[in-house]
Amino acid sequence: MIRENIEFVEKEITEACSRAERDRNQVSLIAVSKTKPVGMLQEAYDAGIRDFGENRVQELMEKMPVLPADIRWHMIGHLQRNKVKYIVGKVWMIHSVDSLELAEEISKEAVKKQVTVRILLEVNVAEEESKFGVTVQEALRLAEAAAKLPGIRVEGLMTIAPYTEVPEENRIYFQRLKQLSVDIYDKNIDNVNMNVLSMGMTGDYSIAVEEGATYVRVGTGIFGERKGMVV
Ligand SMILES: *Cc1c(COP(=O)(O)O)cnc(C)c1O
Repeated sequence: MIRENIEFVEKEITEACSRAERDRNQVSLIAVSKTKPVGMLQEAYDAGIRDFGENRVQELMEKMPVLPADIRWHMIGHLQRNKVKYIVGKVWMIHSVDSLELAEEISKEAVKKQVTVRILLEVNVAEEESKFGVTVQEALRLAEAAAKLPGIRVEGLMTIAPYTEVPEENRIYFQRLKQLSVDIYDKNIDNVNMNVLSMGMTGDYSIAVEEGATYVRVGTGIFGERKGMVV
C-alpha cells in the first residue's frame, strides 16, 4: 500500500510540475511519519523515500537510531526552546522557526556543536488563531534578525495552510508565501536564501506545487489516516 501511495503522490507532483512548467527536480516529497510505527517508515524508505517529517522531538529521537542513517529528518512541528538541544546536529532542517528566541536557541546550540543548522521561517499566512508562525508582515524582520545569528542559515519559508475540503481555496495562501519569499529575496539579506518553500499537505500539495513549493509534506496520503487528532 505504502509503495503504491508514494507512486501516486509522485505522479501527482510530476503532473503538477508539468502544468506549471516547473522542473520536476525542484520539488521533493517529505513523508510525514508522525504517530506511525518504524516498520511503516522502513517500507517508505524501501520504496525510495529519504526525507521524513516528524513533529515531536521525542518521537524523532526514538525513530532516528533504528532507521537507516542516510535519512534526512525534517522537524516540522512546533519546537520548544528546551528541546532544541536534542535535535541540533541531527536533523536536516527545522521548518518551524517562528520566533527570534527560538532562532537564538538554535544558534546557541549550533555554535556549541560547531554545526550549521538549516532553518525555515514558519509563516501563518492565513492568520489562523490555532496556528503557530509569524505574520507575513513580521517575516522580513525575523529573517533579518535570524540571519545575523551564527550557526544557522535561513533557507526559506514554511506554511501550514488551513484545513479545507476545497483545496483550491488554499491557492491564495501558497501564492502569498511565494510572493513573500520573492520580496525577502529581493532585499538581498546576507545569509538569507529563499530557495526553499515548504508548503502543501495531503489535501492540497498539487496546488502548492503549481504555486512554487519545493518541499511538500505528505502524511495521510502515504501512510493513511492517523488515529486521533494529532496536529
Ligand atoms: C501532520 C503534518 C503534515 C501532513 O499532514 P497530512 O494532511 O497528513 O498530509 C504536514 N505538515 C505538518 C506541519 C504536519 O504537522
